[in-house]
Amino acid sequence: MAYANLSREELSDIFADLTAQYDELKAKKLSLNMARGKPSAAQLELALGVLEALKARSEFANSNGDDCRNYGVWDGLPEMKKIFSDMIGVPASQIILGNNSSLNMMFEVISRGYSHGYNGCTPWCKLDKIKFLCPVPGYDRHFAVTEYYGFEMINIPMYPTGPDMDMIEALIKDDDSIKGIWCVPKYSNPTGITYSDETVRRFAALRPAAKDFKIMWDNAYCVHDLTDTPDTLLNIYDLCLANGTEDQIFIFASTSKISFPGAGVAALATSDNNIKDFKKHTLTQTIGPDKLNQLRHVLFLHDINGVHALMKGHRAILEPKFKLCELMLEENVGDLGIAEWNKPNGGYFISVDVLDGCAKRVVQLCKEAGVILTDAGATYPYGKDPHDSNIRLAPSFPPLSELEQAMEVFCVAIKLAAAEKLLA
Ligand code: PLP
Repeated sequence: MAYANLSREELSDIFADLTAQYDELKAKKLSLNMARGKPSAAQLELALGVLEALKARSEFANSNGDDCRNYGVWDGLPEMKKIFSDMIGVPASQIILGNNSSLNMMFEVISRGYSHGYNGCTPWCKLDKIKFLCPVPGYDRHFAVTEYYGFEMINIPMYPTGPDMDMIEALIKDDDSIKGIWCVPKYSNPTGITYSDETVRRFAALRPAAKDFKIMWDNAYCVHDLTDTPDTLLNIYDLCLANGTEDQIFIFASTSKISFPGAGVAALATSDNNIKDFKKHTLTQTIGPDKLNQLRHVLFLHDINGVHALMKGHRAILEPKFKLCELMLEENVGDLGIAEWNKPNGGYFISVDVLDGCAKRVVQLCKEAGVILTDAGATYPYGKDPHDSNIRLAPSFPPLSELEQAMEVFCVAIKLAAAEKLLA
């Protein structure tokens, strides 16, 4: 029965019972971590062939004859671009490969707007006020980049169809200090939703007051399906071309959660104008990317079929973990009216909303019982969840047995925090 419908006495009894359960769990002195969306060791094993690939190679040229051991090819190997092109549906001619991190490329896109400006507009560093739109809950590291540059971040509510497009359109129409928006359009971090066709169409058709407005389209989970009925995302690049808004879009992806986080290959896709700007910026920074890493990824993955085959291996490891979390939430708090959560078809996260004012308390209770979760508030700009209700679960890293223990603690903590609140 929903906690809200219980009498004070009934709730007090439940509270006493939960406290005893919690103390028992605490006495186990657990040390478990489900704070960050990292692949598990078993997943990393799947890509060990990347490390073998170059040893088997007698020479180091790509198909253009460039020696990958040497400087040059600032925008990356054509074979690796082709793989990304098939992953994100943008022609290889519009893709630039980076090094080991797409977040780093996002940082550089913002950094360039800050130092030099886009589309002939004033560099952002010379303007009094810069604002950026942040769909919430969202990815903490996105918010960290715009906080680092001192931009004012504006929360945009997320719905099952994506961010609140009415609000976005109304805000950007007249305010030219709003310079962009962060988006994770597929299997969003952390809500797991994929933007609807209408949402993507509206993004491609945006007409902001700021001529240098940029959509940061972080397609980090483009091939990270966990079910037989995966979500599909409309191709925003094609739609931008049709609307003449292609200078507004930067699309990002990487192999971080395909091969190795921190040792994969990252990519950016955008318009010719933006590529020209980015080339100048990049070639001032570096004489070229790590092409040997790109080459060994090409030799290991071969093509998009290789990517999909590898992702099936990831799914086999990840899917039972997501299922376990969903099952335990359903069984333990499903009908109590104190928590809601998503059931994503892919990606890396489960987003749980507990009673308003309880998220910090749940995370604290878990921590004191030896289970580390992502900090409450981390999914909001400045770490401030106005409702103190959202918690991001990252089930990928712990083995199943540890995950089960961690979820047991988490479910008791949700109930205990809710009972505390209702009895207060
Ligand atoms: N974008 C999103 C939405 C993520 O969740 C993550 C990692 O968790 C990243 C980017 C990091 O990507 P990369 O390793 O390519 O920098």
